[in-house]
Amino acid sequence: MHILVTGAAGFLGSHLCDRLLAEGHTVIGLDNFLTGSPENIAHLSNNPRFSFIHHDVSQFISLHKKLDAVLHFASPASPNPHSPRGYPNLPIETLKASSLGTFNTLGLARANNARYMFASTSEVYGDPREQPPAESDWGHVTPIGPRSMYDEAKRFGEATVMAYHRVHGMDTRIVRIFNTYGPRMSLDDGRVIPNLIQQALRGEPLTIYGDGSQTRSFCYVDDLIEGIYRLLFSEEHLPVNLGNDREISILEIAHLINKLTGNRAGFVFRPEDRLGNDPQRRRPDLTRARTLLGWQPTIDLETGLRRTIEFFRQQLSLR
Ligand code: NAD
Ligand code: UDP
Repeated sequence: MHILVTGAAGFLGSHLCDRLLAEGHTVIGLDNFLTGSPENIAHLSNNPRFSFIHHDVSQFISLHKKLDAVLHFASPASPNPHSPRGYPNLPIETLKASSLGTFNTLGLARANNARYMFASTSEVYGDPREQPPAESDWGHVTPIGPRSMYDEAKRFGEATVMAYHRVHGMDTRIVRIFNTYGPRMSLDDGRVIPNLIQQALRGEPLTIYGDGSQTRSFCYVDDLIEGIYRLLFSEEHLPVNLGNDREISILEIAHLINKLTGNRAGFVFRPEDRLGNDPQRRRPDLTRARTLLGWQPTIDLETGLRRTIEFFRQQLSLR
């Protein structure tokens, strides 16, 4: 297949390109390097089945190549206000990427009669009232809160995808991605795993927002990509949660990172430093993914963290 991946120079987009190329597809990557990096796709520069377009998805995409699939992954993805590249610092870009960018990529897919996938997020559930949220959960979200530029952009993106599916009969997919980590996350991304690993490798205390009792469930990137690949080749049009359902508190993961890196500097608690609306718990209900795709995460947290620590060790040694 000939596949367009937007957000190709990002963490997930670059792994997705690798997987699609490994399966024999031809891939066109599109990115404007807003939060991604040319380094993430540098290894693909000599691959005859890979080409790249430097473009902003919120602008009309003029591409005169036959496409069989369009995968829309371009969007800032970090909620950390202290990262210059987190979505609170890029609110208008974040809104445009999943609104105008979704119209543009859907239009392109429609013109090619191509299948389409939208990268949505667990954030569409906001701070859900039922735990863990299944895809039937409507969410508990504020349209004007500090995360709203992201939550509402992704909710709008999902609504747009379903409208094109219903009106034009397009062959669409929606993946609701839960916290995913691994090599190629940006060092200045601001999300918890790159932040804490980086601090640990520098021998600094790890910054914990609040008391660290809030939970997340972390999926290693290879597991997520496997689920995305299966979803792309499934017939499922309604949203599917993908992630890992092992729930762990932020304090526990901080302990684990200190143990795996041999860091003895402990923690520093920063109640005042965090953006509001930090969900207290997050864990996916993976029933639909397991049933529909025969998929489940297989890489345990310690193994995934070791690989990620190794990646960040190399990155820091290059700086
Ligand atoms: P990332 O920041 O590494 O990648 C996003 C990529 O999109 C970057 O390369 C960036 O330059 C590009 N981009 C942003 N705006 C663009 C625009 N207007 N035009 C062209 N390119 C643009 O983040 P990621 O973690 O790889 O996230 C990829 C997608 O997955 C995003 O849509 C994000 O919302 C979604 N997602 C990720 C996670 C996660 O845990 N990693 C969780 C939920 C959803
Ligand atoms: N967090 C933290 N220290 C950091 C970065 C994040 O304690 O240096 C916490 C944050 O408050 C949140 C959790 O870790 O409760 C996950 O944050 P992240 O930014 O990775 O993503 P989120 O799941 O909030 O979208």
